[in-house]
Order: sequence, then C-alpha cells, then structure tokens
Amino acid sequence: MTAREFPVGEILTLMSGATWRVRNLNDYGNGRIGVGLVNPFNPNHGTAFFADVLAGLIADRPAPPPLTPTMPPCSVCGEEVECDADGFRCPTCRCTWPVVGDEPGGWDYVEATQCTSVIRPFADFTGDRYRDIRDSTYRCVLDAGHESEFHQGLDYHWSWRDNDERAIPAEPPAEATS
Ligand SMILES: [Zn+2]
Ligand SMILES: [Zn+2]
Repeated sequence: MTAREFPVGEILTLMSGATWRVRNLNDYGNGRIGVGLVNPFNPNHGTAFFADVLAGLIADRPAPPPLTPTMPPCSVCGEEVECDADGFRCPTCRCTWPVVGDEPGGWDYVEATQCTSVIRPFADFTGDRYRDIRDSTYRCVLDAGHESEFHQGLDYHWSWRDNDERAIPAEPPAEATS
C-alpha cells in the first residue's frame, strides 16, 4: 500500500519526462493497486504501474531554469560588451563606459586620433527618392590605425572594409607619417 493516491484524471509527470493522465485504478486484492495511465492526447496509448512503484517515479515540479546574464550592446558596433570591476568595455572598439548612469563612454587611448576612413553607404542608390541621402558621408569613429579590419560608423552601426568601393581608405595615423 502507498500513501500516495492517484485520482482518476490526474496529470502526472514522471522522472523519465513522460506526462500521463490517470485513467483507472485496479485493485488486485493482494494489497497492490494498479494505476492505468494514458497519453493525455491519445487515449489509445497507455501504460500501467503498481501504485507503490509509481509513487517513486513522480517528478518534482521543475524550478525555473537559470537565467543567462546578458550585457548591453556596444553603442558603437552593436556587439555585446564585456563587464569588469571598472565598468563596461568593448574590446573591438576599445572603449569603456561606467556601469552606473547614462554618461557617454570614453576611448581607451585618450591620445588616439580618429580614423579617417569615410564612406558614402548610399552612393549606389539610384532614383530621385534617394537623392537626399546619396551623398551622406560617414566617418569611422575608431582609433586611427585600428587593428580591426572593419571601419565603424556611429550611425546605423555601419561597418565597412577598405576594399568597399563606396569608401575612401584611412590615411595612416599621424604618428606614422612624422
Ligand atoms: Zn564595439
Ligand atoms: Zn577606421
């Protein structure tokens, strides 16, 4: 005998992951109760357990799964930033932000000048409706001489490479020419 009762109609989830509905109980007369189970969606698919055995197979209600912490996206390139004791940091753009507040960030190397690559991303848009934006020019905001092969504009998180025919490649950083 078991203290656990199985009312007909009860939904049971087993530790195996299977979920059944109690269909009927059979008293075998020898002190054991059989519990007939049926697929909640398919009455032709069923199984059965002794009640004392079934009582040991019932799964606990699952806890809410753990969260996956996410960081805000970099306001320059849009990639998820890193976080350490000093604040948020984008290793690609080489800039940081304080964790608290909505202040602008800062560039890692304050002495770095701004990359001079420029692009007209809409230069190949034809038609009158694009007339106003066709000449719009964007400048890379990264450090002059940045390692990343991608230049990065602020607007639209636009990025491009030197071989983009809509772009003018960067001039060498000032330090390199002196
Ligand atoms: Zn970034
Ligand atoms: Zn650049």
